[in-house]
Order: sequence, then C-alpha cells, then structure tokens
Amino acid sequence: MFKKILIANRGEIACRVIKTCRKMGIKTVAVYSDADKEAMHVQMADEAVHIGESQAAKSYLLIDRIVKACKDTGAEAVHPGYGFLSENRAFQEALAKAKIIFIGPDAHAIQAMGDKIESKKLASKAKVSTVPGFMGVIKDVAHAKKIAKEVGYPVMMKASAGGGGKGMRIARNESEVQEGFERSQAEAKSSFGDDRMFIEKYIEQPRHVEIQVIADRHGNTLYLNERECSIQRRHQKVIEEAPSPFLDAKTRKAMGEQAVALAKAVKYVSAGTVEFIVDTKRNFYFLEMNTRLQVEHPVTELITGLDLVELMIRIANNEKLPFKQKDVKINGWALESRVYAEDPYRNFLPSTGRLVRYIPPAENKNVRVDTGVQEGGEISVFYDPMIAKLCSWGKTRKEATAHMRKALDSYYIRGVSHNIPFLASVLGKKKFVDGQLSTNFIAEEYPNGFSDRDLPAAEPEPLLAVAALVHHAYVRRAAAISGQIPRHGRKVPSDWVMAIDTHADGEKEFPVTVTPDHDAIENGGGIASGAIKIGKKIIKVSSDWIFTTPLFVGEVAGEFMTIQIERRGVGYRLSHAGSQIDVVVYTVREAELARLMPHKPPPDLSKFLLSPMPGLLVSLAVKEGQEVKAGETLAIVEAMKMQNVLKAERDGVVKKIYGEAGASLAVDEMILEFC
Ligand code: ADP
Ligand code: ADP
Ligand code: MG
Repeated sequence: MFKKILIANRGEIACRVIKTCRKMGIKTVAVYSDADKEAMHVQMADEAVHIGESQAAKSYLLIDRIVKACKDTGAEAVHPGYGFLSENRAFQEALAKAKIIFIGPDAHAIQAMGDKIESKKLASKAKVSTVPGFMGVIKDVAHAKKIAKEVGYPVMMKASAGGGGKGMRIARNESEVQEGFERSQAEAKSSFGDDRMFIEKYIEQPRHVEIQVIADRHGNTLYLNERECSIQRRHQKVIEEAPSPFLDAKTRKAMGEQAVALAKAVKYVSAGTVEFIVDTKRNFYFLEMNTRLQVEHPVTELITGLDLVELMIRIANNEKLPFKQKDVKINGWALESRVYAEDPYRNFLPSTGRLVRYIPPAENKNVRVDTGVQEGGEISVFYDPMIAKLCSWGKTRKEATAHMRKALDSYYIRGVSHNIPFLASVLGKKKFVDGQLSTNFIAEEYPNGFSDRDLPAAEPEPLLAVAALVHHAYVRRAAAISGQIPRHGRKVPSDWVMAIDTHADGEKEFPVTVTPDHDAIENGGGIASGAIKIGKKIIKVSSDWIFTTPLFVGEVAGEFMTIQIERRGVGYRLSHAGSQIDVVVYTVREAELARLMPHKPPPDLSKFLLSPMPGLLVSLAVKEGQEVKAGETLAIVEAMKMQNVLKAERDGVVKKIYGEAGASLAVDEMILEFC
C-alpha cells in the first residue's frame, strides 16, 4: 500500500480524502494557496506544501507545482478530488512521467468522456440509450435554428466541453434559440475555452438519476446503485438522495447494466458516475459520464456501507474489488444538502466573509457532515462558496428527511449568509415529501425566487414561549447580581409584551405571562423550563438550555424542537425550520410607550432598476427617453461567469441611465430609473 498520498484539492473534499487515508494508515500531503494558509485541509494533513497565489489558476491548477510537491515530499500517489485537475489529461501525463500514481481513471477514459459530443457517440455505440438530438458541432445561430427545428422544440443547447451547469440553455422556440445560443456559446468560451455547441431534445419534467460505477484493473466493473439529483438550481445540484424514490428494481438494473457497459467500453477503472435523465414514463437517456469522485458520493456510501475513496485508493494500488455485484445492497435512505455561503433571499448571491460562529450539527449514525471550514475560517471569493455537505441517513426516506430537518435546525452559521432556510423550505414542500421530483422543482415551486413566504407558516407561539423563558432567565440572572443595595434588588416581572415584526401587518404584540419552573432551577439545569401563557394558551417548555448557548434543544408544547436563539440588542432572533423571527421583549410600560413611536415606511424602489448582484454590466438595451414594455430586456449583467438578463417588470419610460456598459456593479447599485 502507498505510504504517502498528496491531495491535489482543497476544502471539504480534501478533508474527506485525508480522513480515509488516516483510517488506512497512509500519510497525507496537502497543497495550499495563499488564501488557504490556515484552511482546515492544511491543518488536517501530515504535511502541507504552499503552491502559489489565491487564484486557482495560480495554485491549484498549476500542474508543475503539484508534481514538484509530490517529489519534494515523497508522495507516491495523488488523489485529485473533484473539479480543479481531476479531469485534466495533461495533469495525468505529467504524473505518469514522474512515476506518480493518479488515483482515478486512465487518461484515455477521461479524454473519451470529457467531451459531451464524443461521449454521446461512444455511448450510443455501446448501446446506451442517449437523448435524441444532433451529435455534431453547431456552426452558428442559423444552423442552430435549423437543427432545433429538426430535433423538435423544446431543445437543450449545450456546450460540448460544459460542466457545472454552465453553457447550457433551453429553447422552446426559434426566438429563444436566437436569444440564447450565442450567450451559451460565449459562456462556454469564457468558462471552458471551447465554444463548440450541440443540440438535443429537452426532456420534459426530467429527473436526474445517476449511476455510481466502480471498476478495478482485474476486469470487475460494478454499479453501486443510483442517486437522484433532481433538485437543481440552474442545472446545479442542491439536494441529492439515494436511492431514487422513482426507480423500480427493473429500471435500476437496466440503468446499472448500461452504465457498466459504457464503463467497459472505455476500459474504465476507479470510481465514476454515469448521469442519466429520466422522463415521466421511466425512459432514461444518457447525459454524460463524470470520470471522478462525485460531490454527492456520500449518499451512496451511506446506503451501501462502502468507502468510495478507500476503494479508489485500493484500485489505484492494483487490488481487486473485494465484493461482487450481488453483494451490493441498498440499506435505508440517505439525503445530502449542499450548504452554501449564498443569500437565498437575494437570488442566491454568493456571500463571502469570515465564519464568526460556526457549529455544525453533531455527527452520528444518522448525520454526516463533510466540511472544510471551521469557526474563524473564511469563505473567500476565490473558490466555490460551499460550506459543507450535510448528509442524513434513516431506515426510510421519511426518517432520513426528519434527521435532515433536525440537523439543519441545529446548523449554526454566523458571519456569512447561507442557504439553510432555503434547504429547509425545500424539504417542507409537499412535492418533495411525496418524492414528486423533477429538475424543474425549484423553478416551479419558487417562481419568483425564494422569500419568507416559502417557509411553512409556523405558529409563532412556540418560538415566543422559548424567547420569553430565555428572556426571563436573563433578567433573573441580572437581578441576582450580588452587592445590590438591600431592598433595592430588581424585581423580575412575570408579565411581558412580546412584539414581532410581521412584514405584512407591522408589529404584532403578544402579552405573555412567564412562570418558570423553580424546582428545575434549584436542582441545577432547567433554566429555561416552565409554563408560558400567551393569550389564552398555556405552553409548557422543558429544556436544559444554559446561558449563552445559541441552541435551544427541548420540548415545547409536547413537541421536540431545536431552535437557534441569539440575543440582539433588546430582543432575540429565533430560527427554526428555515424561518426566522425577531422578537422584542417589552415590559408592560415599555410596550405602552413603544406604541407611541412613529413608524418608518420603507423607501419606494419600484422606479429603479438595481443590480441584483455584484457583477459586470455587459450591455444596456435601452436609451434615455425610451418606452419599454413589460418583459423587454433592459440590461445584461454578468456574474460568476453567467450572463443574467434583466427585464422590465412593467411598462414604462426610461428617465435616466446611471450605468455604463463595461462598468462593474455593486449589489443594489442603480442601473437606470423610470419616469
Ligand atoms: P457533480 O455532478 O459532482 O456535482 P458538477 O458537474 O457539478 O459535478 O461539478 C463538480 C465540481 O467540478 C464543481 O465545483 C464544478 O464547478 C466543477 N467542474 C465540473 N466540470 C468542470 C469543468 N469542465 N471545468 C471547470 N470546473 C468544472
Ligand atoms: P454538466 O456537465 O453541466 O453537469 P449535464 O449534461 O450533466 O451537464 O446536465 C446538467 C443538468 O442539466 C442535468 O442534470 C439536467 O437537469 C439538465 N439537462 C441536461 N440535458 C438535458 C436535456 N436534454 N433535457 C432536460 N434536461 C437536461
Ligand atoms: Mg452533469
């Protein structure tokens, strides 16, 4: 077995690989850029080598530096993770020349599968069912229109070199080809340096189901069942699960066998994934093969009990797979949520900054957290804004979902925005609960983007009861400070008025009466236990919450709840099931006075076009004085290599233009104003 492995990656996947190496008794070498000097993967590895500046192109993508790091440290093999150099032919050649083993498939397989047009041809030769369409390069818009008509609308226009959902667009008619083709091509050019495009049929109400394959160098090629990854935003996976709630045993077997046939056709070794799109009648079509460890591999590990990284390492060491197809079982159900540093309330704008507080949920047999960051660490602008992959396992889908919800409730992240409210909202949608998935799920369930209204209309009372008890405990503690003038000790009232800001109808008040559970207090613990009267309801709360802990875990009105609670000035912020409420606690007198305060109306921004994200103003489609109709294009803003078209929300006349093509925009920066 190898004595030392270098991990040519960063973040959660580097940490993930290091964990398995440790388990196997293999020493590890991390590589890092300037920005990652103090990153978790650097701290976890036995050795670490600095390989350059923060931009990936000046560090993690520099083949020579990584090869040199192997030589300098004596690493015999390299695990590439995903992204970066994991599917790079030149990297493999450089390693081979230096006699260092690449833990992954051979160069010819990566090459064959790296190009969507070529791999589709190969798949169809191996009798794998492929998406109907044109298997050649589209020359220009006119050609695209002709082919799209032949294939039949709707169609998918795709970059042959594409990945990560980039350079891909649906067209439902000729004008959408006109509008989208060149933009996809431009995206492909800027992201992949290759603008070859092709067109295939768009499969309606599609599900994304992929098969994990694994192959050794001794002729064993097996499939490890499927993962369903239909919950996607902009063709990028958000929540994945295994098995798929849609497949039956027959379809699973057919897909597995085709995936194996394709892998064999390219003499595939190591772990790989064959992606399919499945229509409503369970017809399935090959999409692409990813010749690497996939982001969402943990869900497969959770239901099969296998360690894919270990298998990859053993295969690279020329060992035989220690099991046969018939030994591969499905045990229970697993889910993965991709926790990103992004703001779901602002069109998922990436959020960067320091993790001021970071407490991931505890790991156990039902919860797995693959993360590459820790408290005090930074989510930088240079890489993927992924914070963690949060996975759950249960005997059934329902159980796995319940564990996921609880884990999301207790995932405590402060300092950057994160998508946990959105993830919690998805898990709560009826269609998700029923397993009625499609890649349109997010677009259909959130037609206007994500907002508080997408969260289950939680009853505020349980949250108010918890806030009232916690507040009471704080006031009690303050009143008990020693050295107070005799007989002037502060009284702790039991009546309070709690006010929450309901966005719709202003502040709403709830008079409450708090009766803390004194027995529990005297016996230690139970600081936040007692009965709270809100209106006519009495809510019983019992917990062992202690001061300053941000997580309240306990029973509220007979239900077990995990609530995040933060003190904010004169009130509290409570988060639960994706919702967040800000509560102000007044004494009865304070509440009377607060009612007299004037209310500040929010400013009217409807006359302005503001940039929804930081980015580059690519072009302006209108002039001052021009009349525009609702739906007309106003401007194009490029951010994260994606071009976003800003359209008029209603008819109007452009009064003034503030932006200039080529200018960089801050979020909420004014682009133009209407009369
Ligand atoms: P998965 O199916 O494992 O989620 P993705 O296609 O989303 O795979 O890609 C995983 C990672 O690799 C992402 O960080 C993505 O941005 C990156 N990636 C994938 N393909 C490419 C490519 N051709 N060029 C650059 N990055 C890529
Ligand atoms: P990438 O390399 O970016 O991952 P894929 O070809 O795997 O590109 O496609 C990504 C996603 O786009 C799929 O998971 C699916 O949701 C959607 N998609 C791709 N092709 C089609 C198609 N022909 N019809 C419907 N959806 C598609
Ligand atoms: Mg894909």
